[in-house]
Amino acid sequence: MEEELKKLREENETLRRLNATKSDWISIAAHQLRTSLAAIKWILKMFLDKDFGAVNTEQEGFLKKAFESTERMTSLVNEMLSLNHTEDATLNFTYTQNDIVELVESTIFDFTGESHSKGIEIVFLKPTEKIAPAQFDVEKIRVVLQNLIENALKYSDHDDKIFISVRINDSKEIEVSVKDTGIGIPPTEKEQIFNKLFRASNAKQRDEIGSGLGLYVTKYIVEKHGGRMWFESEERVGTTFFFTIPLRQ
Ligand code: ADP
Repeated sequence: MEEELKKLREENETLRRLNATKSDWISIAAHQLRTSLAAIKWILKMFLDKDFGAVNTEQEGFLKKAFESTERMTSLVNEMLSLNHTEDATLNFTYTQNDIVELVESTIFDFTGESHSKGIEIVFLKPTEKIAPAQFDVEKIRVVLQNLIENALKYSDHDDKIFISVRINDSKEIEVSVKDTGIGIPPTEKEQIFNKLFRASNAKQRDEIGSGLGLYVTKYIVEKHGGRMWFESEERVGTTFFFTIPLRQ
């Protein structure tokens, strides 16, 4: 008994140290990201301010989109830093009336370059009926969509397709799904998928860079909205992630 307790304590201590190392690593990566982002933002700003000469309207439009994307990334990195260090960190939520279809379209647009370079098509199966504006924190739900699309891209192969759909389900909630035909999730690891820092063995094997934080934050955001999150997956066949946002009166 005494011996077992000692072993447990030692194992616990090892885990605590490993976790601290991971946290430190995330902090370093996040700080480096923030510095790089600041540099990109500064260069884009110079182009937008016409410091290098005139830009046409189309170029200006794309530069603005790139600039806004870097701003969003910076705030994300800042949130990642704060979430990393306090276990019970709370993100600030601002609920306003928003159009989910518009948000999905603009998020897909942000992935145009990445999906093109990976040879993966993102298909939006637009709802046939009009979906009325709903109350949600638009930037947080954008993070949710970004994480799901990013994962679908990361765990799929060249020539695969990603299907995104939006509907109002029978419980009168907005239900969004992101479906891929990628590597899938091994059955024995499914239960841990939303755990902080967890990465499945087949994902690690692919040697893709990942933190195991994305889905943890994603689920947190969805649940803060009073929604639910789940997935269906078969190894080597594909994965579909779903989330809901209740319609508030
Ligand atoms: P990561 O940075 O590792 O992608 P996430 O928290 O976003 O972290 O995801 C956690 C784990 O869930 C991933 O490491 C992977 O094992 C699994 N996963 C998430 N999305 C997918 C997907 N679309 N297909 C297969 N596995 C996925």
